[in-house]
Amino acid sequence: MNIGHRIGYQVSDVSHTYFQSFNPQLNEKLPELICEITAQEIEEAVNKAANAFCLYQKISGAKKAQFLKDIVEEINLKEQQLIHLYCLESGLSIERAKIELTRTLLQIENFSNLIQSDTWRNAVKEKADMGRIPIKPDLRKGLFPLGPVVVFGASNFPFAYSTIGGDAVAALASGCTVIVKSHAMHVQTSDLMADLVLKAARKNELPDGVFSHLNSQEIELGKRLVQHPKVKAVGFTGSINGGKAVMKLAQERDIPIPVFAEMGSSNPVVILASALEHDSDKWSTLLCDSIVNGAGQFCTKPGLIFVLDNEKSNEFIKQLREKLFYKDFHCMLHPQIYLNYKKIVQERALKVEIYSKSGDSKPNFGIQAIGVCSDAEFCHHPELQEEVFGPFTLVIKCRDIEKLQKCIAKLNGQLTGTLVYKDEIVSEELIDLIHEKVGRFIFNGVPTGVEVVKAMQHGGPFPSSSDSQYTAVGIDSIYRFTRSVSYQNCPENLLPEFLK
Ligand code: NAP
Repeated sequence: MNIGHRIGYQVSDVSHTYFQSFNPQLNEKLPELICEITAQEIEEAVNKAANAFCLYQKISGAKKAQFLKDIVEEINLKEQQLIHLYCLESGLSIERAKIELTRTLLQIENFSNLIQSDTWRNAVKEKADMGRIPIKPDLRKGLFPLGPVVVFGASNFPFAYSTIGGDAVAALASGCTVIVKSHAMHVQTSDLMADLVLKAARKNELPDGVFSHLNSQEIELGKRLVQHPKVKAVGFTGSINGGKAVMKLAQERDIPIPVFAEMGSSNPVVILASALEHDSDKWSTLLCDSIVNGAGQFCTKPGLIFVLDNEKSNEFIKQLREKLFYKDFHCMLHPQIYLNYKKIVQERALKVEIYSKSGDSKPNFGIQAIGVCSDAEFCHHPELQEEVFGPFTLVIKCRDIEKLQKCIAKLNGQLTGTLVYKDEIVSEELIDLIHEKVGRFIFNGVPTGVEVVKAMQHGGPFPSSSDSQYTAVGIDSIYRFTRSVSYQNCPENLLPEFLK
């Protein structure tokens, strides 16, 4: 059976153009045919989302919380089928699929708990003062949902940052309606997940259009959605070029809208001398595992490692290289991502020394590699700091701490920055430099492994994120899809319930 679009509760498949998703492990297309979208279907989905928003925004927190709980229940019933499709379409392991699904369910549960009450809406009530000259009015302020939100599914997180991942669930929890543009690499996984979200929506008798799911392998769908006047915000995870293109589209509208984009990051790790003197073996193991985790296709992969150039750091590089090469080759998400990775490593090899694991890998299996350069080379080639999406890291050997700090000062904004040290005194200047560049500052750890908790900040200065004031992970991510409204001297009977 062909896979259609889910325009609210209706499945639509009017186009006679199809595409297929791909099994990267077997290097072959999957047989199921996925319908391309038509302009008419996009229009219907956005209109439904806008109409549904009028009703859904006013539904109680308790009812929305129940909707989210029911999504969890539906997902649990189809866990095996979801994991099967996830592995088929992404090439990632069952273990990874299970971890990601658990994280996705935790995110949904956290939002369900958050919206049980209206506390998150930050109601502020200031009474009138009739005795003051001039009279002070009664003012009540709180948070309200923005409207229909478009979510771009992420290639590297088929569960946690796609159909009902962090962006979509935060938007639904806030009272926004959601239109998901599935990622073309894992439409089947996404379509099954969308079906489960819609089952939960029906169970709670939510308005038709609260959630829609559209598929295409052309960028036209994303463009039209972002440009549509009824769309009020966008959640995006992907490349810097993709994110910047979407931001531009949103800015060029007659009425610009916010785009919350999580884009590329190289996640610099600074290792000071004492750590390598005492614990080189430990750090080479931890970093090696972090680099190859998920074939290096994590937005928090440590892609730049800064060390001081000495005997100990040479020994560390040797250890890291050996450990990386000892690991198996890893299947990447898609031939295109594999080819991009191969190309960018070849480009790096024109500028820095590259060591790659030898041997033949199967199609789409990324070959782990490590680059080594000096601080001077790093500063001379600004492109060396760009994200390499795959199992690669670049080690920068710095002549002294001043040169290391000069390299850090040249970095663009990053999701994370890590400082590894043992017992030396760390200069305030270095701390301040790293602080300025990152959203999450890690001490003596590795950047992969993002806790889904309130204290998490997943979003750093541009270009790692479009807006470093917000996080894409944790319950505070709900604030991306809200705006404040003050009610002044509003009669009690007309006030929104939570402002009474
Ligand atoms: P992508 O190319 O940025 O695409 C992400 C989404 O944006 C897709 O749905 C894509 O649509 C859409 N898109 C891209 N350019 C667009 C444009 N000009 N206008 C409208 N929509 C546009 O990312 P990807 O497919 O996930 O992977 C490609 C590369 O992105 C990777 O090799 C990696 O470098 C990077 N990436 C980084 C992260 C991270 O977390 N830092 C995560 C994922 C990917 P189509 O599918 O229709 O093209």
